[in-house]
Formats: sequence, structure tokens, C-alpha cells
Amino acid sequence: MTGSNETSVCAESRAVFTDLLTNALTQQDRQRVLLHVKNCPACASALLAQQHSHTSNVVASTPKDTGWLIKLAWVLIIGAGLVIGGFLLWDLGIALWFDRSQPMWLRAALGIFYAGFALLFLAILRERLTARKTDKFRKVKQ
Ligand SMILES: [Zn+2]
Repeated sequence: MTGSNETSVCAESRAVFTDLLTNALTQQDRQRVLLHVKNCPACASALLAQQHSHTSNVVASTPKDTGWLIKLAWVLIIGAGLVIGGFLLWDLGIALWFDRSQPMWLRAALGIFYAGFALLFLAILRERLTARKTDKFRKVKQ
């Protein structure tokens, strides 16, 4: 096989890689391209690279469409959960706190628990805000 002949077959095969990946080729063309790729390591790695970017394009395009909906759902769930959970815990906490018959260690543990809960909430809030900044930065970069 001469160099120039190989190059033209390679170029021809690589030109239809996209069609190959989207199953737009005829059975005959498909077999011809696959046969060449099997015998040509350069085209095989080129096909793999394109297959990878094709796959990640498909994967990346999916969350873009429904991403905001999922985010909104999480905000609603977490928001409502915090309100309900916070109210129940607060109600229980107040009852225990003012119940003088409860031991001191239980009331101290309750205070620590609320402090930890508040810290966790702040940490999540901070993380969310940082993630939002990163998202914006990524959009600008693209
Ligand atoms: Zn080739």
C-alpha cells in the first residue's frame, strides 16, 4: 500500500465518521469504513476520539434541557424540607429546653445539635453560591 493511496482512503473514511456514529451510512459504506478502521490504527484512534466526543456531546446536551427543572425541584424540596423539619425540630427543642425535668446533658446536646444544623445549612448555602459562580464562569468561557 503506497502512502498517497492510504491517505486518500483515510480521508474518505474519516469524512463519514460522523455518519457512521449516527447510523446514517448504508450497510455497504459502513462495512467498508469499519474494515479500513480495523486495519488502520490511525483511523481507529481517530474514530475512538470522535466517538468519545460524540457521546459526551449527547450526555452534555441532556442536562442542559432539564437541568433548571431538576434544580428548581431540589430547591423546592430542600426549601420545604428545611421549613417543615426546622419547625418540627424547633417545636420539639423548645418543649425539651423548657422542660426542667430533662437532664442538663440532653439540653446541652440539643443546643449543640442546633448549632451543628445551622452550620450545616450555612455550609450548603455557601457551597451552592460557589457552584453558581463556577457555572457562570464556565458559560462565559465557552
Ligand atoms: Zn486510515
